[in-house]
Amino acid sequence: MVEVGMVAEGEGARGRTVSAQPPDLLRLHEAVAGLFATQGDWQRAYQHLRSALDIARDGSLRDALTSSYNRRYLDERLYGPFTDRPPLALALVDLDRFKSINDTYGHLVGDRVLRQVADLLQENLPPDGFCARYGGEEFVLWLPGVEAGRAVRVVDDARLRVARHPWSDLQPGLRVTISAGLAHEDGTPASPERQLRRADVLLYAAKRAGRNKVAYHDAQTTQLITHSE
Ligand code: GH3
Ligand code: MG
Ligand code: MG
Repeated sequence: MVEVGMVAEGEGARGRTVSAQPPDLLRLHEAVAGLFATQGDWQRAYQHLRSALDIARDGSLRDALTSSYNRRYLDERLYGPFTDRPPLALALVDLDRFKSINDTYGHLVGDRVLRQVADLLQENLPPDGFCARYGGEEFVLWLPGVEAGRAVRVVDDARLRVARHPWSDLQPGLRVTISAGLAHEDGTPASPERQLRRADVLLYAAKRAGRNKVAYHDAQTTQLITHSE
């Protein structure tokens, strides 16, 4: 019994995402906690319940398909307290013509594309930055504490990583690109919610400008700038 508990703890410490967590691990911790409780070993029972709770909490904040953070996590960050925080850059990312990828290659391939794009978006984020699935084929990149120029580079690098990924290894002929709207605080703090609305408007501009682009407002010229490959 104790041996089972020790194995479960090791697994729990390693697993960071939902997909890396065998779903039964939560139940295993629960069961082991119950066994310790029947023996009156409350300390060990408590430890296993805590592990079960950590797994459940992490799972409730992750997207089941991509293992990136989910809308619930994003909403907690958007609407939670944000006093004394560093200036925030926030990008809304949308896959280009994703419906036609589903239509051409099927939904299973579409799902694999979404997973791979989420992985690519999560690379090279600044400290305390994160990627969350906003819904459907849209993601948010949360980039605190980076100046405007760096934020543009981070988002445009992500765009290039997606465009240059060897998608044809997944399906011959497959190509995938993303568009992004990037909102950056320009001196005056804005609520993250407002930043998200601004990013949405910019995303729309990136789509209209031809897709596979990052749109943002340059602080000096206040003009819309797009990058392309
Ligand atoms: P645009 O470049 O204008 O964004 O075009 P689009 O085709 O990407 O946009 P549209 O909103 O027309 O289509 C989005 C598609 O994303 C439709 C929907 O079926 C698909 N989708 C949303 N969530 C999932 C998912 O979890 N898996 C798969 N395979 N498809 C999804
Ligand atoms: Mg969309
Ligand atoms: Mg789209």
